[in-house]
Amino acid sequence: MTASTMEDVESFRLRARAWLAENMPKIDPDYVPPPPGDDDEEWVKARELQKKLYAGGFAGICFPTEYGGLGLTPPHQEAFTEESLPYQMPLALNVPTFSICAPTIMDMGSEEQKRDRIGAAIRGDEILVQFLSEPSGGSDLAGLITRAERDGDTWVITGAKTWSTSAYAADWALCLARTDWDAPKHRGLTMFLMPTTASGITMNRIRQVNGSTEFCEEFFDNVVLPASAVVGEVNNGWAVASRQLFYERTAVGGGSPYVSGRGDRIATTPRSNPIEIARATGRTGDPAVREKVGGFLTTQKVQEQLVERVTRAIQGGQLPPPAASFMRLFHAEADWERDDVSVQIAGAMGTTGAAAAPGMGGVVGVNYLMRQGSSLGGGSTEMSRNIISERVLGMPREFAADRDVPFSQVKRARN
Ligand SMILES: Cc1cc2nc3c(=O)[nH]c(=O)nc-3n(C[C@H](O)[C@H](O)[C@H](O)COP(=O)(O)OP(=O)(O)OC[C@H]3O[C@@H](n4cnc5c(N)ncnc54)[C@H](O)[C@@H]3O)c2cc1C
Repeated sequence: MTASTMEDVESFRLRARAWLAENMPKIDPDYVPPPPGDDDEEWVKARELQKKLYAGGFAGICFPTEYGGLGLTPPHQEAFTEESLPYQMPLALNVPTFSICAPTIMDMGSEEQKRDRIGAAIRGDEILVQFLSEPSGGSDLAGLITRAERDGDTWVITGAKTWSTSAYAADWALCLARTDWDAPKHRGLTMFLMPTTASGITMNRIRQVNGSTEFCEEFFDNVVLPASAVVGEVNNGWAVASRQLFYERTAVGGGSPYVSGRGDRIATTPRSNPIEIARATGRTGDPAVREKVGGFLTTQKVQEQLVERVTRAIQGGQLPPPAASFMRLFHAEADWERDDVSVQIAGAMGTTGAAAAPGMGGVVGVNYLMRQGSSLGGGSTEMSRNIISERVLGMPREFAADRDVPFSQVKRARN
């Protein structure tokens, strides 16, 4: 599609508006959601909604036409998202399926992988997740110890992964494993596309502090994958993982052009809103509260503009891809401010969910407990700062005793 044959954004917006009104169910404002991950029906619903988008010709707006998308631009996607806000959307598929896994496959996968996996996701047939972090630690991703050994035309995987968001609902995972133990840690890795139901996988769900069981852990006991499961090149999995981490930081920071609709769930635990809390507690006239709310609103504005500016600069080549860590870092900072300010204003009512504070219903306290997640998911806040200092600002690299050392000779807690 060329710029001259592409539908202009305004006409696309009008067509989307009419189609959404006709076809998508409206959001029910009275619906109180269960904690994420406890409602498996949500995934059935997300697939149904995605199928509707696909049938209506509004799925995969920024993905290329040859892989089932519409081949349109980020402004087309933004126009569709703005129009979609009053409607139920398959938001659960945005992260990681559309914003992280599908673009990684698009950049690094074989033609067959792109056609099959991206196409199936856009049609609403398949969900993709990430098998990266391991029980031995997620920050040092290149130090992972899940093993893939070649056996004739196949690969045999043994090891364990953890913190895999919504893996229980997924069909395929991008799984990073070590294929050469004699190479330095970054050079002996390979990325695989693994069916989540393959024989030899044991998957458990992990209960979080808010009661949700959205996280999973997986144990691989001789999982056999075909040679065609390799994404990119054997022993060059770090290049694939780096691309994936770039998309993850962009997605977590809020800059992905591949997400349709806003938010991450059809109905999610409501975010704490300091303004509503100030109203509910009768503290809108308190100067200290006004200052805190003002600070929070300013941070939100800065975040919006930072995301736009950094996204544009990365697309235009003025900033390198690791600059996505700015968005990732600021996202965590802004989330923490929201939850801290909310608790400070709510006081004891934030934890009791007193009826005197409508809309707060215990959510403030639970969100405060969960705020640690935003400084870990998509790589930790400390790692984001390391990336910015070393790979954007060009500061000296952190000392690493295992740099350029064959991985088999690196001292580790266990093999
Ligand atoms: C909401 C959420 C969703 C997630 N989804 C997924 C998923 O779908 N798939 C997946 O594979 N993983 C997922 N994760 C895991 C996530 O990637 C890891 O939690 C993260 O990379 C940190 O790894 P870790 O928890 O093992 O902490 P560790 O790596 O053990 O780190 C512990 C602490 O030490 C600090 N630290 C470690 N190394 C350094 C260093 N060199 N310099 C300074 N500080 C350091 C870290 O910042 C952290 O505070 C998710 C996590 C969250 C919270």
